[in-house]
Amino acid sequence: MARQKHKPQRMCVACRQSQDKKSLVRIVRTNEGVFVDEVGKRAGRGAYLHADPSCWEIGLKKSLERALKTSFTEQDRERLLQYQNILSGLTMTETDQELASQE
Ligand SMILES: [Zn+2]
Repeated sequence: MARQKHKPQRMCVACRQSQDKKSLVRIVRTNEGVFVDEVGKRAGRGAYLHADPSCWEIGLKKSLERALKTSFTEQDRERLLQYQNILSGLTMTETDQELASQE
């Protein structure tokens, strides 16, 4: 059936929409806790969320813990909330446009 699998697609655990891996942020569970994996290569069980604070809000309530098969510690939660705050403060479209026009 579907054979167009050139671009790796991943599903956001909050809104459950699949998307190009690059548009999603990987969160990884390691022995030291749960981290945002900005490089996307850290070893451990991973889950994905859109770089969108509203997806993070949903994800942090429950679906992310379920996807990672873990319960967040206070530190984990704090780390993830911090990242959510960064996302809320970002004006991503501006950056994207800048990069696009620079060729
Ligand atoms: Zn999402």
